[in-house]
Amino acid sequence: MAGAVQRTEAVRNIPHWIGGRRVEGASGRSAEVFNPATGRVSGRVGLASGAEAEAAVACAQAAWPAWAATSPLKRARCMFRFRELLEAHSEELAHLIRAEHGKVHADALGELARGLEVVEFACGAPQLLKGELTEHIGTGIDSFGVRQPLGVVAGITPFNFPAMVPLWMFPIALVCGNTFVLKPSERDPSCSLRLAELLCEAGVPDGVFNVVHGDQVAVEALLVHPRVQAVSFVGSTPVARHVYAGGCAAGKRVQALGGAKNHMLVMPDADMDLAADALMGAAYGSAGERCMAISVAVAIGDAVADALIERLAPRVRELKVGAGTDPGADMGPLITAAHRDKVRGYVDLGVAEGAQLVVDGRGLHVQGHADGFFLGPCLFDRVRADMRIYREEIFGPVLCVLRSRDYEQALELVNAHEYGNGAAIFTRDGDAARDFARRVQAGMVGVNVPIPVPMAFHSFGGWKASLFGDHHLYGPEGVRFYTRLKTVTERWPTSLRAGAEYAMPAMT
Ligand code: NAD
Repeated sequence: MAGAVQRTEAVRNIPHWIGGRRVEGASGRSAEVFNPATGRVSGRVGLASGAEAEAAVACAQAAWPAWAATSPLKRARCMFRFRELLEAHSEELAHLIRAEHGKVHADALGELARGLEVVEFACGAPQLLKGELTEHIGTGIDSFGVRQPLGVVAGITPFNFPAMVPLWMFPIALVCGNTFVLKPSERDPSCSLRLAELLCEAGVPDGVFNVVHGDQVAVEALLVHPRVQAVSFVGSTPVARHVYAGGCAAGKRVQALGGAKNHMLVMPDADMDLAADALMGAAYGSAGERCMAISVAVAIGDAVADALIERLAPRVRELKVGAGTDPGADMGPLITAAHRDKVRGYVDLGVAEGAQLVVDGRGLHVQGHADGFFLGPCLFDRVRADMRIYREEIFGPVLCVLRSRDYEQALELVNAHEYGNGAAIFTRDGDAARDFARRVQAGMVGVNVPIPVPMAFHSFGGWKASLFGDHHLYGPEGVRFYTRLKTVTERWPTSLRAGAEYAMPAMT
């Protein structure tokens, strides 16, 4: 595919950000970055060598003692300034996202808004880092627990949210007193570079935040580097599993978030128009390239399935697919030609497996964008649980409708699935909603909410093959992940002599 690409757009070199400045890649390896709407190469990003990743870690390590010694209030003030800069530059950042990811402009602004929430949460660092103290646990003895930073931490992020996912990680890591090395997706790397510059403008000292572009070579170097204390990863499940195992084997703290197949149950008493609205946005927004996209609708009973298909089919056919620059477009192209072909292959497979393709987006042509990586939205009905299009993550604009006999069978279906990121139920029945929220095997649950991405002051994460590790991202779990607990027991004044104790001290 890359060989057939026309090169009429100006091709920029996208450098790393190490030690507070742009550093051109020197590994001799690089990757093309595409504009998915035109199919043309817009940039070339250096793929870091192990030595380049190590240079970033060395800068982060050198910057760590002073940053850790900076008061939480001062660290938070950097985040306040960063928050203002993010807002002031949101149009520019949305443009960068749109140009390399392809999502429509409003969606790019939406991702920034959700990332900004985490920055706002991080501004509360002095409160978030407050420890706890018990006075007088014994004669003249007090005990207190504090949470201290880990040191250098790394973040490895996917293509689908080039701003939001890094923003889920580094604002909290930084205000907790860590320094950070980000390895963003090589498919849409420019946004992270701009975020680094804005952090610098906000007063974050050189070396505290670094960006190393690259592929698995850079990831492997970060995973084994003895100075990297913790790794946050978001991406596909096979890589998440690998990163979790490798990072843990190297003695690091790891949280690795993987793929998803999010189900939405539609109960017979649900408002069908509301459910259809929810499915349209949740299945086809961002061309289905969201880890919290609904890719499976489970209709409870044939009547519900028929009512949903009747509402969905015409709307799926009418969805406006176009370049992210088109203000009328509902969804844009997929990230690469290879990914578009993979998703199209799943549609072919679904037909071969015997699912009923109600809307076929495979023949879509977007006028003026013949070489763009577009695929029209697809809708399958009568999908069965043994089909690969149900079992595997497709990560594209393909919605599968399954027909379930009753609520219990539908719940069993969700709970038996390999993934457990998000799950939703649409109903007017409080009993069913409560039962679902209690029993469903997923980390994030929506009741009449199709994409229940938690706000920044809660935490984000799935269950089963959607997350490896003990901590979810951001919110209180993020603070715990990026700090470690120290408990101090102290006796004052020292004149209170207790004499030598040979039995286990009882603090009386
Ligand atoms: P990916 O796994 O291909 O890449 C993620 C990151 O890992 C990138 O930085 C990439 O350079 C790196 N990487 C890729 N292959 C690697 C390898 N073999 N060894 C080491 N590092 C490697 O994922 P993607 O295609 O960029 O993103 C889409 C996936 O991310 C989907 O599966 C989606 O569900 C998932 N995702 C999950 C969440 C979540 O919160 N659970 C959020 C967003 C995306």
